[in-house]
Amino acid sequence: MNTNHAPAGQAPAGQAPADHRRLGRELKLFATDPLVGAGLPLWLPDGAVIRAELERLAAEEAIRGGCQPVYTPVLAKRALFERSGHWAKFADDMFPPMRVGDEEFVLRPANCPHHALVYASEQRSYRDLPVRLAELGAMFRSELSGVLGGLSRVRQINLDDTHVFCAPDQVPGEITRAVASVQRCYRLLGIDVARYRLSRRGDGDGYLGADDLWADAERHLAAALRDLGLEYEDGPGEAAFYGPKIDIQVVDPAGREETLSTVQLDFNQPERFDLGYTGSDGARHRPVMIHRGVLSGMERLVAHLIERCDGAFPPWLAPVQVVVLPVAEPNAGQARDVAGRIRAAGLRAECDPADATLGARIRRARDRRIPYIAVVGDRENASGLVALRLRDGRRLDGVGVERLIGEVSGQVAGRSADLGFR
Ligand SMILES: [Zn+2]
Repeated sequence: MNTNHAPAGQAPAGQAPADHRRLGRELKLFATDPLVGAGLPLWLPDGAVIRAELERLAAEEAIRGGCQPVYTPVLAKRALFERSGHWAKFADDMFPPMRVGDEEFVLRPANCPHHALVYASEQRSYRDLPVRLAELGAMFRSELSGVLGGLSRVRQINLDDTHVFCAPDQVPGEITRAVASVQRCYRLLGIDVARYRLSRRGDGDGYLGADDLWADAERHLAAALRDLGLEYEDGPGEAAFYGPKIDIQVVDPAGREETLSTVQLDFNQPERFDLGYTGSDGARHRPVMIHRGVLSGMERLVAHLIERCDGAFPPWLAPVQVVVLPVAEPNAGQARDVAGRIRAAGLRAECDPADATLGARIRRARDRRIPYIAVVGDRENASGLVALRLRDGRRLDGVGVERLIGEVSGQVAGRSADLGFR
């Protein structure tokens, strides 16, 4: 991370912690409109850049982890969620059904039931397992307007969601693989894990399934955490209604803890959807389902990242990576040309024309947290170079455009948090 900003999770001295709602407005990342409704953010172009980069990371990580991408609809007949148990246990959090002819459809509260049916769409043998189905899917929560705010409480969650269907003896390996994937992504994103929590069933009847299945699942998760050498906190009453989970907890700059990624173990959905595979003994067996949310919801992740870096995203996530500033009007053509060359190399560059003083435009670029400011004046114009100002305060004079493109491309391709030019 760049040195101008406080370490993660701490506000700069004397300043209030970053608030993603304020920064989201100032940096034009997202907006809400009463005509759309609370909790239904509009992703503005600069916010959409960040989300698209994160979605690309999620897709690459899924492929690398042996997952197969699928696409499934955001709604289904109410009967699907009666089968999954969501209707009985979760209906208060779901939008009410929509009647079409004599059928009833609901917006999905989770992607799992659709993925269970993708698994069930063909005969499976033990040789096919594990089957890992990945989708960055939208799911819906009928939250009341009063509790909604910014990106952290929303009515549509776009979740990086994988469902693994495996044999019981593959469970430990799959949990380890899921946690490793989370750790790899967090390293890249500069997110620190505050704690791992084993979220178990609590008292009450809000849970599906038999006691022995729950005990097995909780034991599996605890064993996996121990095998990984991870200390964890016990979280009775924090489980999903269909199974226990490992919650990966992070702390925002204001000190609030929240769950980002989860790995959930589920013996219930495979029962309810009567999922099966043919074992090496020729008999039919029940797979185990693991719900793996690595990057979590795009909304929650982006809110966390905005606050964590105070809007100063690493170059690969920055909506605008390079802004080119002509010192004065006669340099405008050269500046536009430089910006065009940088864009042609696949980077995100803008030219900010000489409609205000250079100092004012540099401040504007700083306020937008743009990592690289390239200034073109008469001297640079003559020699085909730029004067470079980096977001961390460094200044480099006489930088060739090819070198600028090469350095920035390298930092972006490596998804580095560093600005380069060492
Ligand atoms: Zn799921």
